[in-house]
Amino acid sequence: MLHAGTVITRNEIFRVASLFLYMAMLIHVTLIGDPHLLIASDPMLIASGMLAMLLLVGLGRYTWPAVVTYGKTRILFELLVINAVIATFTLQGAGSILPLPWLIGVAGIFPLAIVGPVAYLAVACVAACGLLVNHWVHAPISTALTLLYPTVFAGLLAQLLSDALDVKRLAMRQAQVHDRRFEALAQATRHIFLIFDGHWRLKFVNHALENVIGFTEQEIARSDFQIEVHPDDRVAHQEALRTLRRTPGSVVVSRHRSRHKAGHWVWLETRGYNMLSDDVIDGLVFSVEDVTARINAEEKLEQEHTLLRAVLDLNPSMIYAKDADGRFTISNLAFQRRFGYTSEAPLRGRTAYEVFLLHATAEERVAAYDKADELHRQDLLVVKSGQSMEDLEVQGIWETDSRSWFRTNKYPLRDAHDTVTGVLAITRDVTDRKEYEMRLEHQALHDPLTGLPNRRYLLKKIGEGIVDFRVKQIKLAMLFVDLDFFKSVNDTHGHDFGDKCLLELTRRITTDLPAADFIARFGGNEFVVLSNASLLQANTKAQGLLRAISQPLIVDDVVVKIQASIGIALLTGEHRTGSDLLRDADAAMYQAKDRGRNRAEIFDAALQTNRTRRAQMDVALRFALERHELSVAYQPKVSILDGSVTGFELLLRWTSPEYGRISPVEFISIAETSGQIVPIGLWVLEQACLQLRDWQARFPAYQHLTMAVNVSMRQLLQSSFLSDVTEVLKRTRIAPQSLELELTETSAMANPLQTIENLTQLKKLGLRLALDDFGTGYSSLAYLQKLPIDVLKIDKAFVFGLGNNASDTEIVRLILALAQTMQLETIAEGIETSEQMAELKSLGCFNGQGYLFLPPVTASEAEELLSSGRKFPVD
Ligand code: C2E
Ligand code: MG
Ligand code: MG
Repeated sequence: MLHAGTVITRNEIFRVASLFLYMAMLIHVTLIGDPHLLIASDPMLIASGMLAMLLLVGLGRYTWPAVVTYGKTRILFELLVINAVIATFTLQGAGSILPLPWLIGVAGIFPLAIVGPVAYLAVACVAACGLLVNHWVHAPISTALTLLYPTVFAGLLAQLLSDALDVKRLAMRQAQVHDRRFEALAQATRHIFLIFDGHWRLKFVNHALENVIGFTEQEIARSDFQIEVHPDDRVAHQEALRTLRRTPGSVVVSRHRSRHKAGHWVWLETRGYNMLSDDVIDGLVFSVEDVTARINAEEKLEQEHTLLRAVLDLNPSMIYAKDADGRFTISNLAFQRRFGYTSEAPLRGRTAYEVFLLHATAEERVAAYDKADELHRQDLLVVKSGQSMEDLEVQGIWETDSRSWFRTNKYPLRDAHDTVTGVLAITRDVTDRKEYEMRLEHQALHDPLTGLPNRRYLLKKIGEGIVDFRVKQIKLAMLFVDLDFFKSVNDTHGHDFGDKCLLELTRRITTDLPAADFIARFGGNEFVVLSNASLLQANTKAQGLLRAISQPLIVDDVVVKIQASIGIALLTGEHRTGSDLLRDADAAMYQAKDRGRNRAEIFDAALQTNRTRRAQMDVALRFALERHELSVAYQPKVSILDGSVTGFELLLRWTSPEYGRISPVEFISIAETSGQIVPIGLWVLEQACLQLRDWQARFPAYQHLTMAVNVSMRQLLQSSFLSDVTEVLKRTRIAPQSLELELTETSAMANPLQTIENLTQLKKLGLRLALDDFGTGYSSLAYLQKLPIDVLKIDKAFVFGLGNNASDTEIVRLILALAQTMQLETIAEGIETSEQMAELKSLGCFNGQGYLFLPPVTASEAEELLSSGRKFPVD
């Protein structure tokens, strides 16, 4: 039974036809002819057997087509055999069996089983066999040709049939393949494929339908079925379908929502093709895709994009991105506005050079080019290095923003493979913060009152000066200006007044000096000027400043006169830090003060060495007492009348492990400055009293021995001095009148009123008081009169000149006269020669001290003197 789409193959026809031929032949020879003929001769017997064999082969081939195979050679062999059988039957049957019909049959069957040109050979072979047989039976040539034509015709017909079957089989096979492929695709795809006829009757739909909108093919195939389209999309969708239906060959695309069987909406993208004019398809073909996920993604992307755009455009920072060539890709509104744009499009694809130059005015072009160049290079560097750049701070370059400050961070942009594809830059306007920072910095480096640079700034500036000096040998001079007695201005008129004076002085200093000079307020009443000047020039500047400062100053209707002392120092290779230079200028300033103020002094290195030594000694001296480095020496006071010892002066000695023996002239002044003299002096006083009590007790002949102790004004001013002395006297139980305190005339006269008060108090204790180094201190007679002193000690400077310097002799004479008038005792110190002694005696001074008698000696040497009761020769 044949179905549409099945194809009978050549072999199948051959199987049936060959079996039929063999059977027919056998029946013919046995039934139509004489059966005895089959075995009438040997050839006939063989031919009959062969026919039987062929019949069996044909039967087997028919029954088991898959088992019995028949290759081309075997078929050709079979062809020869059947030709031989037919020939044998014809020749042996003597005309009762005609070859022609059988050969026609053979020619019509065998080409079916043979492919290609061999089939024609087979036909030729059969035809030749017919001709041969005819010849053997002596048939006329006309009969032979009549035989030949049908044979060849049947053969060719079989061959053509065979080809036609092959072609059809191939076509069918191809159609099948296409069909299967289409089915497989329709099955596998997520797209819905639909084909409707011209009346919207469904012709085809694939399985995807159910997956996409939930309906089965059966449901949709119902004539009343309609897919529900979203009301918003309905009109457009239906219009699209109508257009499609109307226009042959047209294509429409429609995006719309359809209701899923489950109730929700599904976004579908439908492509429709009008193929009604295609006679095979003859329909409207649709491919429908579920684009819900895509549309959702698109919507989400759109939302994100809008959000990002808003984030970008609402951001006050200027943001841009560039590609790897440095061309703008993205920019936000703030950035666009800076260049006069309101959208991204005109910037996209441009370089910084183009954008900056387009925006620049003629004057701004150079700056704009430079800035663009800088930015472009930075951007490319970020791309090249893949490293971000942060906190790049620049000032604006446009007329509108040249006072603004911008801080930029640049980051490399990377793709999914981590390749840098561009750069993202974010620039913030940090003007407020920057100005605040600059204000803070200004505050940190400036004096709030005068607005001048402060000490910190000064040190920074000197640091720069040191570098300039080392690298470029640029000179730097420092003027250290210290206002004299400014404290008393403050104390007298108040600090507000003082501040106003400072402001006015600042004005004068800044006006007097060239703008290139650096002026700082170093302290309350100290200014420092730095100038790239020589010492000579600096000194000229200092003189100018002194003049400017000392001009009378009128503040709040009060006139004051302020003066200054200026120290000048020149920067040298020795100065390692700003403090070193300051130290020197400060030292020079102190020198100016020492030398009478209202003047300028240039730093003197030797002086400074001395100061340094003093400072170091000061430190050492602080430990001298407790380390027992201090000792005392005793120098006898001698009566020039009889050479007897009347007392001793106690002189302090310091032997320092670092500095050796140091003269009291040097260390006493250090101790006075530091205040160390107070505890040291007390110790000396105690030593004196103890020693005196000891000697008075051990040497009864010296009951009236006195002990003189040098005291400094600094000790006297100490409020506890009086009680300290009282305490020592009480503790050592010596008679107050045997203790003599020596105070130098110079220190006594520095503040005579104070001295009078202090000495009066001391005097009340019953002590003896002496004015030491008398004659060097320019005493005012008025004050001298009021000082409760007992002794004038003539300074050794005058004693030195006695006998050879008339004026010295005269001075001594005057001092002695003064003493006599004031009823004061006298003693001369520093007597070294007997001439000096004789002169003194003749002038009326009868007490002396000096190397002539004995230099300051140790306690034991002094004791020796006392125990021997020796008298010094005085005649
Ligand atoms: P001064 O009180 O006038 O002491 C006299 C100084 O003259 C002593 O020097 C002494 O050694 C020195 N002298 C004595 N005889 C002669 C002489 O014939 N020729 C010369 N050229 N000099 C002589 P010294 O001991 O160096 O003391 C110097 C100064 O140090 C003292 O002068 C005194 O003002 C001060 N001084 C010494 N010890 C103390 C002390 O314990 N306290 C205080 N406040 N000052 C002291
Ligand atoms: Mg003395
Ligand atoms: Mg003296």
